[in-house]
Amino acid sequence: MKLTTVGFWGAYPRANEATSCYLVQDEDTRIVLDCGSGALSRLQNYVQLNELDAVFISHTHADHIADIYCLEYAMFVQRQLGNRKTPLDVYIYTDELNTLTFSYPEALNVQQIHVTDNIQVGSLSVTFSENVHDIPCCSMKITNRMGQTLVYSGDTGYTDSLIQFAKGVNVLLIECSLYKKQQGLFTGHLASNEVGKIAQQANVEQVVLTHFPHYGHLDQLKEEVCQFFNKKVYDAKEGFSITI
Ligand SMILES: [Zn+2]
Ligand SMILES: [Zn+2]
Repeated sequence: MKLTTVGFWGAYPRANEATSCYLVQDEDTRIVLDCGSGALSRLQNYVQLNELDAVFISHTHADHIADIYCLEYAMFVQRQLGNRKTPLDVYIYTDELNTLTFSYPEALNVQQIHVTDNIQVGSLSVTFSENVHDIPCCSMKITNRMGQTLVYSGDTGYTDSLIQFAKGVNVLLIECSLYKKQQGLFTGHLASNEVGKIAQQANVEQVVLTHFPHYGHLDQLKEEVCQFFNKKVYDAKEGFSITI
């Protein structure tokens, strides 16, 4: 299983970059986790859009879903050109699916994620855990046939359920929105020291930090995580990839 970072900013993208979006490839299966602002353009550096099998959206904040609407147009055009035979499956964690304005059911097959779901896509299975955030938001666990595991946190405040959900996984891809000194300033996001504690308590093998703030020195985030977690920690800069 290979994880590639397509977009890694929180809130909005910097020039020529993107907010949350990650490509996961395993055998012939290609799925995308979140599809934020700027993601669709960057994604095509790593995969042909027609090769995608499914997209999973952790929640409906714009920095995680913005480009799904242009991806719908892309799939619509590709269907018209005869390059894609089936609609792209899009799974969204929300309790207000009917308020989202998708127009082309022949382009996207949009479905609601329920926290108890176990969704099989090719060689991958995806399960979910409820986060602490100001709208419904989930963490996702991706498991391949070899039993290799990746957990992506989406957006979340500190929660024991994420520790349980991520127990012993090979890679924890986790939001790190705040510096240690900011802990508690904003709800629904993790400070670096909380990330370190979650990773340590879940005893994960490796950590990839993402969903970065637009201020301060990002190296400091990693240093603060490493004060609590003494295994490998990476930054999810664009194009970063890790094979699990
Ligand atoms: Zn976000
Ligand atoms: Zn959010």
